[in-house]
Amino acid sequence: MEDVQRLTEEAAKLAAAPLWPLADDEITDLLRTAHRLEQAAAALQARLVQQAGTRGLPATQGHRKMAAWLRSTLRIDPHPARELTEHAAALTHHPTLEQAVLDGFIDLRQAAVISTTVAALPAEISGLDEVSLVDAAQIARQAETTMIDMAGRLPAYQLRRIGERILVHVAPELADRADEATSARQEARAHQRRGVTLSLPVDGLVRVSGFLGAEDVATVEAALHPLCAPTPGDDRTAAQRRADALIDVCRLALRTGQLPEDGGEPPQLAVTVAYDPLTRNLGSAITDTGRRLSRDTARRLACDARVLPIVLGGDGQILDAGRTRRLATGALRRALHIRDRGCAFPDCDRPPRWTDAHHIVGWTAGGPTNLDNMVLLCRRHHRLVHHPTAGWQIRLGADRHPDFIPPPTVDPTRTPRRNLYHRRQ
Ligand SMILES: [Zn+2]
Ligand SMILES: [Zn+2]
Repeated sequence: MEDVQRLTEEAAKLAAAPLWPLADDEITDLLRTAHRLEQAAAALQARLVQQAGTRGLPATQGHRKMAAWLRSTLRIDPHPARELTEHAAALTHHPTLEQAVLDGFIDLRQAAVISTTVAALPAEISGLDEVSLVDAAQIARQAETTMIDMAGRLPAYQLRRIGERILVHVAPELADRADEATSARQEARAHQRRGVTLSLPVDGLVRVSGFLGAEDVATVEAALHPLCAPTPGDDRTAAQRRADALIDVCRLALRTGQLPEDGGEPPQLAVTVAYDPLTRNLGSAITDTGRRLSRDTARRLACDARVLPIVLGGDGQILDAGRTRRLATGALRRALHIRDRGCAFPDCDRPPRWTDAHHIVGWTAGGPTNLDNMVLLCRRHHRLVHHPTAGWQIRLGADRHPDFIPPPTVDPTRTPRRNLYHRRQ
């Protein structure tokens, strides 16, 4: 105890010492040495935790789990508490690993990876007929030595990847069959653990999180990939393109009309929005699931979603609620497909099935739902034309095809443009 206290004080004093007199290579060397010092302290902690476990200290102090005891004793977060527990477990029954940590060959994260890999090995190979228990123990020992060697070059996360196929290095003749058995086990476990969660919105963002099996992800990727390609002038990040692709796929599925009915009606995004017929103002909108949307978004959705306007009287009382506005469906939609052949925005290549039917004059401003007041737009360009400051205008030309008038920032002469892509054949 006294020794450790003295060391701690010394270390604290050294940590505060000025670093400017050091040469560049001394900074690097010192960083390595400090990491080693940290690992020695961490090894001591791990051994203390292990000892506390053996003596049952957490239980006698009223904690059911080691991690909970550590959190309250050291005032640390759940993650480091769990990690410390894992580190202690890694050193238990692994004297070779413990020595390797104390000698500074490996750090505790690497030790944890090695011990998990080695512990899983017997189960992995015991199912294979010709492997005896003695052989299995021998292979596990070899795996441990091999991985300690590799830890000199590889950080923990890479070591984990190698560990998944450690048999290739220590018993190649068994690797393929063991892989097969492992994959089957992993797939079964992955299938059990699958799940997707949508959180409550915070700052207008909903966290989508969860796990999918490798096979299921392949399906998701196959559907998203063709929609993720950047388009010319596209400034979205890869993650943003993936998010947009996910929404596009869902919207496509909604549009097919082949999803099972939901409460007796075809499933569709439904939005309730307060609407004052005198001022023709839209209030903020609320989705079926209770998420609040801005007025701009409400206006864009009003083009093509099933919107349930709640018409408010002057004193805010509800005059008329829940009547679905007319949508561009059936014959009108087909007529738009024939006229526009896809997103009508200049030179966009999105085909009809990816488009919304946009009202040139908004329905709140009295714009009718007919061919001369509608134009097909993909989601990206639909957002653009609704954007308050983007400045694009749409009007119908003499031949009753839509003209797009660019804002002065794009073309100072504001010459109308058309989509040439869909006219090419
Ligand atoms: Zn619109
Ligand atoms: Zn487009």
